[in-house]
Amino acid sequence: MPITEIQFPILTHFLCSVESNTGMPPQPLDATPAQAAKAEAKQQQEDGRANLPKGVVLGPDGKPCRSCTSVASWMAMARSSPSGGKPTNIATTVPPAQATSSLDIPSDCPPDVEQLGRSTWTLLHSLTANYPERPSLTHQSDTRQFMSLFGKMYPCWVCADDFRAWMQNGNAPKVSNREEFGKWMCEAHNAVNVKLGKPSFDCDKWAERWRTGWKDGRCD
Ligand code: FAD
Repeated sequence: MPITEIQFPILTHFLCSVESNTGMPPQPLDATPAQAAKAEAKQQQEDGRANLPKGVVLGPDGKPCRSCTSVASWMAMARSSPSGGKPTNIATTVPPAQATSSLDIPSDCPPDVEQLGRSTWTLLHSLTANYPERPSLTHQSDTRQFMSLFGKMYPCWVCADDFRAWMQNGNAPKVSNREEFGKWMCEAHNAVNVKLGKPSFDCDKWAERWRTGWKDGRCD
């Protein structure tokens, strides 16, 4: 019988105090072993989440997502893991004292959220820099499709979710010509900058940054 159907206030009171003292939600009195195991696994996952260092994002599989997490948070988690820097699941992590300050990760390691972001923006802005001034209708349609698939497949899933939402919220890709697409990408990047508390970029300068090089000649 589910706990919510129990008619005895004294018993309900007892179960509530079990929860507040043990941190475990009350279990059905007639819980099967499978139900009990499921409840325990859920509790362990919640405990693991609470124990993760700030900034560590979990993937859809419930494990820490490296492409969604900064190096600092990842290393803080890895250093505090009982497995000696190789986190296997969130239930085994413990809270770190603080994020590490040594971020000299070798360049041939998997990217964190920032490295992935920088590389991706380089690709996206370079795409706009090399976009035709007068693209065919097929090219425009391919580009829209590319951005739509990009929004689904970007490896940082939290970033991708927000980016898709931004595109769907009146910011569909503008792809009629190079200038329009370049400005649109700049605005897309600025939306992420704002979300992360970073300064906005002057979108009148997108082509100097990504196509022609700066007018002062330092890129020539
Ligand atoms: P970046 O923001 O990577 O910029 C690289 C260079 O681009 C800058 O040095 C500058 O010269 C130039 N630039 C900056 N702004 C503009 C602009 N508006 N137009 C043209 N050029 C510009 N990180 C998160 O932590 N959370 C997120 O939710 C998140 N979402 C993202 C979504 C997408 C689609 C992408 C591609 C990345 C996302 N990132 C996210 C990563 C984040 O945007 C940065 O790439 C990362 O934080 C590294 O930032 P950075 O300061 O080195 O420079």
